[in-house]
Amino acid sequence: MTQTAPAESAEADGEQTRFASLDPRTGEVVGHHPVHTAADVEAAVLRARTAAAEWAALGFDGRRARITEWRKLLVRKLDEFQSLISNETGKSADDARTELALVIDHLHWAGKNASRVLGKRRVSPGMLMYNHSASIEYKPLGVVGVIGPWNYPAFTPMGSIAYAIAAGNAVVFKPSEYTPGVGEFLARTFAEASPEHAALFQVVTGFGETGAALCRAGVDKVAFTGSTPTGKRVMAACAETLTPVLVECGGKDALIVADDADVKAAAAAAVWGGIFNSGQTCAGVERVYVAEAVADQFIELVTKQASKLRPGGEPNAPFGPITMPRQVEVIQAHVRDALDRGGRAVVGGLDSIRPPYVAPIVLVDVPEESTAVTEETFGPTLVITRVADADEGVRLANALRYGLGGSVFSRGRGEELARKMRCGMVSVNAVLAFAAIPGLPFGGVGDSGFGRIHGEDGLREFASPQSVTRLRFRAMLNPMTYERGSRTVRHVVRLTRMLYGR
Ligand code: NDP
Repeated sequence: MTQTAPAESAEADGEQTRFASLDPRTGEVVGHHPVHTAADVEAAVLRARTAAAEWAALGFDGRRARITEWRKLLVRKLDEFQSLISNETGKSADDARTELALVIDHLHWAGKNASRVLGKRRVSPGMLMYNHSASIEYKPLGVVGVIGPWNYPAFTPMGSIAYAIAAGNAVVFKPSEYTPGVGEFLARTFAEASPEHAALFQVVTGFGETGAALCRAGVDKVAFTGSTPTGKRVMAACAETLTPVLVECGGKDALIVADDADVKAAAAAAVWGGIFNSGQTCAGVERVYVAEAVADQFIELVTKQASKLRPGGEPNAPFGPITMPRQVEVIQAHVRDALDRGGRAVVGGLDSIRPPYVAPIVLVDVPEESTAVTEETFGPTLVITRVADADEGVRLANALRYGLGGSVFSRGRGEELARKMRCGMVSVNAVLAFAAIPGLPFGGVGDSGFGRIHGEDGLREFASPQSVTRLRFRAMLNPMTYERGSRTVRHVVRLTRMLYGR
């Protein structure tokens, strides 16, 4: 991804040593950042390792107190942080504020729940091992490398960072080359809130090579969020050293509108879910399957609402520009493909694409083979497809290799249809609600990746379970010694038959 961010080269040896992040609305430079080399990344990981040991030694309560200080500082600096996010991504002030509210809620949840989820707890030893006590404890991994995208430059990586730190790890974070300032802001505020642990959360900036170096720098886990092709590269690099990975990739999420849906609510949700943040949302709505019985009404409502929305650079615009210039070509290619294959635009069309802005585009009658249906568009577009009923909608929704999230609108069958969807998260009669509930795990299946951020699973993702047993007293029958007689094993087998054979 080095082609679009402006670079500044060191004069001596032609090596690029720093780069600029730009405001996509104006092209103005927001800030300059170093291009960290593999040696820089290794040094950061080394520093993090010492910091990790000190952080782990604080225990849950000590860590929670420091996370609370960080959370409060982020709240105090919310306006400053919001404008930095808007400057680096171009997103509207309200989209950035919404993102930050979620960041803070998740940070709170992770800090508060780490002890309950990961702390030592007793486990029943079972009938055969009644003379032992058994316990499990989730220990920190050490140093976690986090690689993040630009579309939610705070919320997305913090889904890993907050949970990894709460679980007792140090973090080295490589933000997207489009949003390095947001990454640095996060690390700076952490250091301000907890100065004696400044090395616990470090940021390394640069391009894809810096991210690749992080995969090879000896971290204990890599948490990657980004596109599926890069996810595969990250996994391949991590395989060289058997470094475990968490892979959160793209999606092509579908919204199903059943014939018993509240059509008005479904239309409003489809418009917001497809267009907010300029459609640059991994789990945003890209496809809609609407039951024939309510399709006309639904399409009319969506058309009416989406036609009113215009992107802009002003802070109160409903949504901003496309952050990554290269993405405009993808949006254009998908819309063109849909139209070439017989699709119709009921809102906007190719004319809506005026870089860096793309106005809403709503397409109907698009064949399922079109790239507008099969690939992630990441723009303010919706493809609406009429289906006989919600079941056909679910079948088509499940046909892709992506499987991140989804939504269902139905008064009577919501949860039943949700369970039939092949994806990691579903909202019934809402869109994206799952992302805003910190206790729920977030992640996908298939090409959308594996592993989970958020919730209890998100905490355990950054910890290693250790099982411990302790002998409480000698058992009358102990088959796990050569001192056992054949009678002992016979008794154990008889007991097994009695307990489990009926
Ligand atoms: P990319 O895959 O292009 O980049 C993601 C990150 O990986 C960036 O920091 C990038 O650095 C870095 N990177 C690039 N090449 C390598 C490499 N070889 N080794 C290691 N790291 C590398 O994604 P985008 O930034 O364009 O983000 C958009 C994508 O993210 C969409 O597909 C979206 O769906 C997905 N996403 C998924 C989410 C989820 O939770 N499932 C949430 C949010 C977004 P650089 O930018 O410097 O090239």
